[in-house]
Amino acid sequence: MYEYSFVLIKQFNRENWSKDEGKYQPESDATDCHMIAGIDIGGTKIAVGVVDHAGRVLAREECPTAVSLGFVAAMHRTSELLRECVRRANVELHGIGIGSPGPVDPKTGRLGDVNNLPGWEGGNPVEILSREFGVPAALENDADAAALGELRWGAGKSRARFLYVTIGTGIGASLILDGQIYRGINGCHPEIGHHIIDPSGPACSCGTRGCWESLAAGPAMTVWLRENSPESDGKGDVAAREIFERAENADRSACAAVEREAFYLGLGLANLITLFAPEAIVLGGGVMRSAPLFMNRVREVIHENCRLVPTDRVEISLAALGADAGLIGAAEVWNHRFQLHGGEVESRFVPDRRGPISS
Ligand SMILES: [Zn+2]
Repeated sequence: MYEYSFVLIKQFNRENWSKDEGKYQPESDATDCHMIAGIDIGGTKIAVGVVDHAGRVLAREECPTAVSLGFVAAMHRTSELLRECVRRANVELHGIGIGSPGPVDPKTGRLGDVNNLPGWEGGNPVEILSREFGVPAALENDADAAALGELRWGAGKSRARFLYVTIGTGIGASLILDGQIYRGINGCHPEIGHHIIDPSGPACSCGTRGCWESLAAGPAMTVWLRENSPESDGKGDVAAREIFERAENADRSACAAVEREAFYLGLGLANLITLFAPEAIVLGGGVMRSAPLFMNRVREVIHENCRLVPTDRVEISLAALGADAGLIGAAEVWNHRFQLHGGEVESRFVPDRRGPISS
């Protein structure tokens, strides 16, 4: 990964570097050349990077989230890594974009009661990081951040109406309408991963039963295999990634788990197409790394269950931004908020001074 960043920096230097100034020199209009920090907060790691105006990652670092050490300690680590990235990229930072698992409040920058960040509720990364670096910052739900990245630079490019769905340890989704993030009441993010597909289905982390996530996220495959495979008795759980590997080797139980995954993934997508008739659906997340094993079946299920909208014209594709999608999407949160829309919604975090990190 670091090697990759290094190659990018070399290309970058060759084209745009000035020895006199020692700083990145824009070739044309300076407003096209903002250098934005992307902060991708996850349950296990925080990725930090500097992203240029073309969506290229110039430097990146990451650290364990270490949730139990608390939110403020994590922001200290994040700040240190960001300083290192800025130093390596040798650029001036214009802003900070942040993606975090929800619920989050994009307006105030505060984290809500996030499932995999216990004890962090009320923490405000926008307030802390904008004060620390003296630049404006903006926060969005991580699915919305990834959708914005794909909208600008990836598989959702030029799509006015599309859905981004990430399928990993959970299912997150973002709805882009006319190039904007769709927001619900009080600006809330719709929880598409928790639309109920089978009320008699498995218990979900949200407290109900049979949500899309409980049937089609990676852990759903693990649970199903544990309960339905005669060979699994007492042998411990099998992660989704290994189930896909076993299915590639024609293991019968694993193939059945993948078939079930395809069915429920397809059913949820069919619902989204019926409800929104989008131009495109972009699919990301760890489960989609094994897409060749099940996408044909997913398309069949969609076709069988969508009758009244022009399903065949909905383009379904895989996310295009790869391993740095979270970082690039987070940086795009800033562009979307402050550059493309003038920050008219939530510009209160434009700091006027630098200060130490406090709670
Ligand atoms: Zn649920």
